[in-house]
Amino acid sequence: MAMAQLSDRMRALVQPHLATIEPYDPNFTLTRINLSANENTYPMPAPAREAVAAALAATPLNRYPDPMSGELRCELAAWHGVAPEQVCVGNGGDELLYNFLLAFGGTGRTLVTCPPDFSEYAFFASLTQTDVVRVWRDAETMHVDAAALLEAARQASMVILTSPNNPTGDVLERDLVEQVCAACPGLVMIDEAYGEFADADTTVEPLLARYDNLVVLHTLSKAFGEAGIRCGYVLAAPDVIEVFAAIRQIYSVNVLTQAAAVAAVRTRAAFEPVIETIRAERQHMARALSAIPGVRVWPSQGNFLLVRVAEASRVRERLRDEHSILVRDFSYAPGLADCLRITVGTPEENNEVLRALEQLIAHSPSGREMQ
Ligand code: PMP
Repeated sequence: MAMAQLSDRMRALVQPHLATIEPYDPNFTLTRINLSANENTYPMPAPAREAVAAALAATPLNRYPDPMSGELRCELAAWHGVAPEQVCVGNGGDELLYNFLLAFGGTGRTLVTCPPDFSEYAFFASLTQTDVVRVWRDAETMHVDAAALLEAARQASMVILTSPNNPTGDVLERDLVEQVCAACPGLVMIDEAYGEFADADTTVEPLLARYDNLVVLHTLSKAFGEAGIRCGYVLAAPDVIEVFAAIRQIYSVNVLTQAAAVAAVRTRAAFEPVIETIRAERQHMARALSAIPGVRVWPSQGNFLLVRVAEASRVRERLRDEHSILVRDFSYAPGLADCLRITVGTPEENNEVLRALEQLIAHSPSGREMQ
């Protein structure tokens, strides 16, 4: 694959550390079924949809937004059992991740991550010139190497871990997170973007009361089906939140986002049946996919499954071109040879993926070579 690069002119003009950056390729194709971005593909539950619609209709657009999303912040604080001063809302989890690196990373600082994980961590580290120390997961189980992580955390300016991890699907033991918080002289962020899909009581939030260097990241993009409104938030000690608040672009969370998010959070109980269905579908998909000869599936606590299949890139292309189904190809990512990530969709979407994969794989000789 030819790597896209900046024009010669731009390479000369951008900051030197940005000269090798690749222009953004959203890799987006309009397909009938899109299971490539771990969105919630279910219709929004009626009580939430109605509350959001009413809130949007009642929101004046002529005034700047409340910089700290006061009303939303109080709702989120009450939900999570923390003080409002322990919450900062952002324009998606992505903005908060970027701001985390901007505030606490930088030249001469080190970020510890456990790849394969969410690629934005390393990207934001590169933008902010933060060194990344990678503690690779076990190539077989995809589990974190606890001893190596703790060793690295002792020297780190900051750590970001993901639970459930994207794309491997595993959750972190709370004990390990506690040890990392105790070992790391800097801040430890646990990204729980997919936390609502995991088994009960796997969140590390109870540790917030005991570790003032812990930051927990959440988003409304996944379980709460609002990837389009761009709303994420962090929970942390008040002085950590003060930093997030001080460096953020004050109006990054617009009035419509704040209004829709408040409504969605107030009606969050309506999402529970959807989350339950996604969890059940995940089990169904994991079983059915592993029954296809030559397919390996890792256990997942997220709304997605990581699978390994021979000639993954070709399989992904054929799913797109012959079936109009989009999944994410990770086969070029280090540690993820021949891996695809499939978001768990509605039962209809999932059955279509299964049927298409069974057909593609059964029709290739020995289930291995794709023509
Ligand atoms: N963390 C993880 C692990 C993710 O996968 C994502 C989205 N793909 C995010 C954070 C950010 O989500 P958003 O910006 O939509 O809140």
